[in-house]
Amino acid sequence: MNRAYVGLGSNLGDSRQLVLDAMDALENLPGARPVGRSRLYRTPPWGLLEQPPFINAAMAVETPMAPLELLDAMLAIERAAGRIRDGERWGPRTLDLDLLHVEGFVLHDPRLTLPHPRIAERAFVLLPLNELAPDLELADQGRIAEMLAAVDSSQCQLLP
Ligand code: ATP
Ligand code: CA
Ligand code: CA
Repeated sequence: MNRAYVGLGSNLGDSRQLVLDAMDALENLPGARPVGRSRLYRTPPWGLLEQPPFINAAMAVETPMAPLELLDAMLAIERAAGRIRDGERWGPRTLDLDLLHVEGFVLHDPRLTLPHPRIAERAFVLLPLNELAPDLELADQGRIAEMLAAVDSSQCQLLP
């Protein structure tokens, strides 16, 4: 089994429900075992600033799938949630599932970079991930709790 950390985000549609449903879908993948879910945060848009705020969260699952197989399953869950890819990166979306890290894997595949290369600069990833694995050490980036301490997370708001 592989332990995988997934970052979830949405800023179109019923974002909170879309994120919660995606957590269910990931835990219900063949052979998967739930490990942990973060709470949900409302966060400012990143990259493209003229768009609605995001709901973000993170989760961990144990899966028998190989990383690329898991990525394909995640892309299918995004499509089922109405995600439309129009080629614009970082734009608004009903659901974004990023594979943040799979324990024991460093990958530079054209379709999949592991760990996800932009974790260190993203409060909206680090804040929920820190709830699950503050001591996790990512190749080339560092320890989650230390990376979180180095970014500005003051605009990220915990949802009740
Ligand atoms: P970012 O990756 O900076 O968060 P994004 O989530 O907006 O940007 P997408 O348009 O969702 O980017 O994904 C573009 C492609 O990134 C995907 O089709 C996938 O093949 C590739 N990719 C590479 N590494 C990863 C990863 N660790 N997790 C998810 N997708 C990845
Ligand atoms: Ca993303
Ligand atoms: Ca993505």
